Amino acid sequence: MANRVALVTGGNGGIGTEICKQLATAGYRVVTTCVDAEREKIADWQKELAAAGTQVDWVECNVTDFEACKAMAAEVTEKFGPVDVLINAAGITRDAFAHKMPLENWDSVIQTNLYSVFNVTRQFVEGMRERGFGRIINIASVNGQTGQFGQANYSAAKAGMHGFSMALAKEGARKGITANTISPGYVETAMTAAIPEEVRNGIVAQVPAGRMGRPDEIARAVVFLAADEAEYINGANIPVNGGLFTSF
Ligand code: NDP
Repeated sequence: MANRVALVTGGNGGIGTEICKQLATAGYRVVTTCVDAEREKIADWQKELAAAGTQVDWVECNVTDFEACKAMAAEVTEKFGPVDVLINAAGITRDAFAHKMPLENWDSVIQTNLYSVFNVTRQFVEGMRERGFGRIINIASVNGQTGQFGQANYSAAKAGMHGFSMALAKEGARKGITANTISPGYVETAMTAAIPEEVRNGIVAQVPAGRMGRPDEIARAVVFLAADEAEYINGANIPVNGGLFTSF
């Protein structure tokens, strides 16, 4: 993988960090986006990864902003070379029951989880087609497959991500490009730490594995799909959820 460049949006998040680490360990040149370098102490994050033996570079970019994504793509390409592997992992939740959901919650979740996937992918997929190789991996959610109370916005965005993957899979199949979705179950990160403890305990009780997932377990699936050898896996939505999907 020495020459492959991988870009991870949300790479400094809980799941994103493990994705960056495992891709770097597998030999990819890894770059992540961060929203605001000052706010996120990205340099400290980068140093921690370097101390653990993994080199990851970063560029600033708010993935809800199409023009910012365009500028980011130009910067990444110039500094690191063309992107071969794109992982769309940036995401947020703004939960509320649909009948009480403020428009702002709908808007911000659709913008950050779904528009972002187009905003970023659009910048790279043309080049992938020209070069005859690309791997696009979208991090959705089990809640995009099943729906979830209080998450009409998030469930819609995550289901939409997979629609996008399937369309790109068809468009890119003869150009060496695959587009797949990974749908994690509940994973131990800041996002799920925000769920009230009793609700979290209720969720874990439903998971056949009897525990939440770990970010490294999601990253493992990403590295698998990113490989050159994974070419025939295209348009798939891979659940990584401890068997949760089977318990509904
Ligand atoms: P985190 O909150 O730890 O990470 C989310 C990442 O997205 C952060 O790096 C965050 O940056 C970034 N991000 C948010 N908004 C933007 C934006 N506008 N532009 C650029 N980056 C942005 O969450 P997780 O690691 O838990 O989640 C990662 C992905 O996995 C998400 O898409 C999430 O929906 C999905 N997922 C998570 C599950 C879980 O149980 N944790 C389960 C299923 C799916 P910043 O820190 O600056 O906000």
